[in-house]
Amino acid sequence: MTAKILDGKIMSTELKTRISEKTEKLKEQGIVPGLAVILVGDDPASEIYVRNKQKGCEEVGFYSLTIRMSGTASQQELEDEIDRLNQDPKIHGILVQLPLPAHLDENSALMRILPEKDVDGFHLINAGHLMTGTAGVTACTPKGALHMIKSTGLDLTGKEAVVIGRSNIVGKPMAMLLLQENCTVTMCHSRTKDLKAHTLNADILVVAVGKPGIITADMVKPGAVVIDVGINRVDGKVCGDVDFAAVSQIAGWITPVPGGVGRMTIAMLLSNTFDAAERTLQHA
Ligand code: NAD
Repeated sequence: MTAKILDGKIMSTELKTRISEKTEKLKEQGIVPGLAVILVGDDPASEIYVRNKQKGCEEVGFYSLTIRMSGTASQQELEDEIDRLNQDPKIHGILVQLPLPAHLDENSALMRILPEKDVDGFHLINAGHLMTGTAGVTACTPKGALHMIKSTGLDLTGKEAVVIGRSNIVGKPMAMLLLQENCTVTMCHSRTKDLKAHTLNADILVVAVGKPGIITADMVKPGAVVIDVGINRVDGKVCGDVDFAAVSQIAGWITPVPGGVGRMTIAMLLSNTFDAAERTLQHA
């Protein structure tokens, strides 16, 4: 079998076109969606992510603001900046680029963002909404991955879904979203005893580990949907966690890296920011 490619470039372009059309309409009602990104320090990978987010905002006609803070900024300075953005009516989404320098308390900074402006979906209130299946902001990467899974047109009810990785920003919210879609969900992690025994059962396999080649062809059920969230750099080249060349001969659908889930993450960030802006109309 040769897998169909779930192309993040195409899917994210479609999403962005739709967001841009809706943004035009929202502007007619006097609202320009605004996203603020706070970047503390000068981590080169974070610089690239922030630039891509800015570019995404420009593409869909949003107002975007990047706040650069020194790598020695204090917790108080960071939280004062967040407070200021919480109060700014031009800003509907606030994102603190992670990781923060080690001396800063990431959790405390994230909790400072108003839940309705938390377009990353990392605030405890939004994590709680996801857990209880109530309306809130959903984390962008799992939301994007689910969009890709749904694009296969498969009926997800009763499917065996295996999520590898249990982080708060990818693995756990991904498992919750698949549960809401009525999948039977298994979570694997660094202490899982026999990874292959689980992955071979998976109709849907989501891999979010950060280890290149951790999923090989012999670990994949023929016809499965394989979503590779991993972003790694090997010999200067970006790759995922899945052995793409071999697994694409076994799987039914597969996402490439680059050009897969990463593209969807930014599209979902824009989507969450649009929704946050639109919600302000209801409260006007
Ligand atoms: P993380 O380091 O917080 O979590 C990694 C998870 O992998 C952990 O839960 C750990 O238990 C699990 N793990 C480690 N070794 C394992 C093993 N041998 N077998 C099974 N599980 C194992 O990472 P994260 O923030 O969840 O990110 C995971 C990957 O996804 C990274 O490569 C990251 O760069 C990438 N990522 C991509 C996007 C995107 O937009 N595409 C967004 C976020 C993260």
